[in-house]
Amino acid sequence: MSDCNRIAWMRLRLLLLTLLFAASPALAADRTIFLTFDDGPLNGTSNILDVLQAEQVPATLFMVGMHAEANRALLQRAKSMPLVTIGNHSYSHAYNHYRHFYGDTEGVVADMLKANAVLGLKPAVHARLPGRDVFRLPNYSKDDNSLGLAEAGREDPDYEFVAASGFWLYGWDHEWVHEDSGKPVQSVDLLVSEIDHLFGYGHFAKPGKLILLMHDEMFQDVFDGKAKLTALIAALKLRRYAFGTIPDYD
Ligand SMILES: [Zn+2]
Repeated sequence: MSDCNRIAWMRLRLLLLTLLFAASPALAADRTIFLTFDDGPLNGTSNILDVLQAEQVPATLFMVGMHAEANRALLQRAKSMPLVTIGNHSYSHAYNHYRHFYGDTEGVVADMLKANAVLGLKPAVHARLPGRDVFRLPNYSKDDNSLGLAEAGREDPDYEFVAASGFWLYGWDHEWVHEDSGKPVQSVDLLVSEIDHLFGYGHFAKPGKLILLMHDEMFQDVFDGKAKLTALIAALKLRRYAFGTIPDYD
């Protein structure tokens, strides 16, 4: 099958599943979405906060300490909003050299603690490691499936030491993907049908709970961020999904 055909087939399948799903009674209480936004505060963050405020839905912003130092007003605004949970996404974002970063366990812990100081967070801190879909919660643990066994094994001490230093680590179940420019890849409609499909047939870290990964840079004006996020939230509300906050994830 050509790639074009494969994509067309995947879309058709998702559409059919969505129709099937829409015809069955919704189980709102059993279907909770946790909106998470990574890498802020950045251009795009204020649009996210505007939409959360207007739509009155909770979300978690996993922030980068370095970015917060450069955008203190945005950090303060996010902290003033009861709907928003601030999470720690490291100080340096590993300078995007993940292998090097995770080769130094003490360095990883120090980087996470430095971000706590900048973000004003105290243990237990909700956190997401840069570039790693890893969970380390008191009653749940999961490694990053995209890493080979050897690499995951090498990095395991990092995850354990960070967790033992007062961090609850959260990965994700699905991603609204973006291009290098920050431009979102899936349309809102496609993303919503993916979410419907996953609730019907997917396996989440925790049953009935989908952690959606997004990045602040996707919601800049140049990508029509406010309208897209508003459309996503409206579509999810229409389908009677509940919105959860990361502190209630357990
Ligand atoms: Zn990140």
